[in-house]
Amino acid sequence: MTAKTTVTTVACPTCEKPVEWGAQSPFRPFCSERCKLIDLGAWASEEHAIPGEPDLDDVFSGELNH
Ligand SMILES: [Zn+2]
Repeated sequence: MTAKTTVTTVACPTCEKPVEWGAQSPFRPFCSERCKLIDLGAWASEEHAIPGEPDLDDVFSGELNH
């Protein structure tokens, strides 16, 4: 009987390095926290491309004027 340890690996979405899918890879599917943050940052800058966020300013000045 052979104890076969099958390690599932996934490719890091950021740098495409193989990442072991297990407790030893806390940032899976990313290879590291850095790659995770890079991916989240890329997503955020694409989805929330609102320069200056003027709506937030309006909310705050409105609160102050009341
Ligand atoms: Zn990576």
